Amino acid sequence: MHILVVEDERSLAGTLADILGRERYLVDLAYDGEEGLDCALSGIYDGMILDVMLPKLSGFEVLRRLRQSGSALPVLMLTARSELSDRVAGLDAGADYYLTKPFEREELLACLRAILRRPTEVAPATLCFGDLELGEESGQLCCGGQSVQLGAKECQLMRLLMAAGGAVVPRETLYLKGWGYDGEAEGNVVEVYMSFLRRKLTHLRSRVQIEAVRRMGYHLREAEA
Ligand code: CA
Repeated sequence: MHILVVEDERSLAGTLADILGRERYLVDLAYDGEEGLDCALSGIYDGMILDVMLPKLSGFEVLRRLRQSGSALPVLMLTARSELSDRVAGLDAGADYYLTKPFEREELLACLRAILRRPTEVAPATLCFGDLELGEESGQLCCGGQSVQLGAKECQLMRLLMAAGGAVVPRETLYLKGWGYDGEAEGNVVEVYMSFLRRKLTHLRSRVQIEAVRRMGYHLREAEA
């Protein structure tokens, strides 16, 4: 797997290259937005880690131009800024995941694994994880001979969890993909929806469980048969 890291803080870029190198990813570094965009457009990468605050072109602008070119390259955005409006700008520009600095090594690797697992061409109509199948169009969640109907938000969240294939999906990603910037949404809305989904999994007698990972997010885990 060949990863492009676009980060102007040299020491952080070096740390990222070191972390990824140890996991046997092949890493190239770019130190500003223009260089990053040129590299990303080469089409040789499997994923990109993109800082928001960059010289020459911002991370958002790099992402916008990349998507405009038709590229579906999976992108993990790094942001030191915590303003929601910035992150929403990134969502609109087509980022797959967000990670707020400072982050833990494990958190970074989990996010990267999740975006790399994401199909970059055509999304399958049916997602599978363990004994579960989710019809993305129908919102039908099936297990064995049983099925339940998921609501639109439940389906969206379940899709993110299943597509991650057991990796942790950051709580923030679930929130932003599900609700975006919506002053109406309560802070604990992700937890509330996770409890709805858990109830449906219990109803289906699925071996798959939704587990919370403290300060990170949620992931699916299949219990031993
Ligand atoms: Ca920066």
